[in-house]
Amino acid sequence: RSARGNWHTRKRIGIMGGTFDPIHNGHLVAASEVSWVYDLDEVIFVPTGRPVFKLDKHVTNAEDRYLMTVIATASNSKFTVSRVDIDRPGVTYTVDTLRDLRRQYPDADLFFITGADAVAEIMQWKDTETMFDLAHFVAVTRPGYLPASQMQLPEGKVDMLEIPALAISSTDVRNRASHGEPVWYLVPDGVVQYISKHGLYADTSK
Ligand code: ATP
Ligand code: MG
Repeated sequence: RSARGNWHTRKRIGIMGGTFDPIHNGHLVAASEVSWVYDLDEVIFVPTGRPVFKLDKHVTNAEDRYLMTVIATASNSKFTVSRVDIDRPGVTYTVDTLRDLRRQYPDADLFFITGADAVAEIMQWKDTETMFDLAHFVAVTRPGYLPASQMQLPEGKVDMLEIPALAISSTDVRNRASHGEPVWYLVPDGVVQYISKHGLYADTSK
């Protein structure tokens, strides 16, 4: 029996992949909202290793991104963090993430959560057919990006879900931090403190 009182025979697990450089409240609201609407038992946050679409960009080291994700999710009993992507050598492909988590949870229904911008790249992802076999895909709305309903997506493979709009991006948080501007309330308090304690994003030339 789920927290909402519904009966599901299989465990229902959300997977929230991201660079999380840093994790922000937009990610957390997306995960929380999908968890509620889809009656999930757990949402696993999966910080990427080397994100395939960011190979040309500087990305903060994986341990810092992992720890910020742990801090941000610690207070939610349904949220957990997985190291599968940061422990797998090489570039991160979502299909590998799904295979690893499928192996860990052979009897669960998996729901891969993605924002409207990331789902637009879905057709460029590796082995999309296999990905759709491994998990349901849920695309959430994101301010500044086309609604998923206006995208060319494979028929019936990706659900669209409107969520409360938070116009927050990690890029914006990094820029603000690098200029000494406040990031309070854009990211959880512990993440604000982690950023300043470790001097993350201080050097914009990186
Ligand atoms: P960056 O600016 O560095 O790309 P980001 O804010 O886009 O960071 P990512 O780690 O790239 O964050 O995103 C992880 C996932 O979260 C993606 O699927 C993305 O679409 C989704 N996402 C990020 N921010 C939001 C938001 N404000 N609302 C809804 N979805 C979001
Ligand atoms: Mg992004």
